[in-house]
Amino acid sequence: MYDALTTRYTFACPERGEARVALSSFRRVEQLPGPAQPAVFEIEFGCVCGHEHPGLVSHDELDWAPLGLGGDATFVNLMTATVDPVEQELADLAARRIEAGEWPWSFFCYAEERPRPVFPSAFVVLAPSGGGEEVGLAVRCPVCGNTSINLVTTQHLDVPFHNDREVGVVPHVFASDLERVAEEFAAELYSARFDSRRLAL
Ligand SMILES: [Zn+2]
Ligand SMILES: [Zn+2]
Repeated sequence: MYDALTTRYTFACPERGEARVALSSFRRVEQLPGPAQPAVFEIEFGCVCGHEHPGLVSHDELDWAPLGLGGDATFVNLMTATVDPVEQELADLAARRIEAGEWPWSFFCYAEERPRPVFPSAFVVLAPSGGGEEVGLAVRCPVCGNTSINLVTTQHLDVPFHNDREVGVVPHVFASDLERVAEEFAAELYSARFDSRRLAL
């Protein structure tokens, strides 16, 4: 469940019962196989209790709920008069900004040498870096299918339409199979130098 006011997802924590986490606390995102509509994603997140836990999130919640669009979150909130206007305003604002060519999330595709708009469902692996201020992010490009690693701020992920002006990019095209991406990701993130790329779309 996503709360647009706090920009946090709620998942179960076996120690504390409940955890509220931002997108930047996700560690792995993987679409479950099968014909489920909307698609369901299994995620792992870094919890305040110090451990990582699995969670399930629908495609709508992952990509659209942060914009106030679609998903169960909006449906529930429509039942409560207090939150309803805020949700509607968010949704209207998001729709206007996308129409104007602004994107809620973006990344730099190394294979194509250009920035691309993206949704969180294209994220593959995430890891904290730089004392928690930054996040290493492996993204599968929705256009060319190659995986790139960017180094971004937490706001770049957690605040829709906040795009870092520059991001770090690992100058390396990654294997397309996910197991190897995860392995290479860990190795590259802590050893590789990052090239700087402008993210203006
Ligand atoms: Zn926990
Ligand atoms: Zn690409």
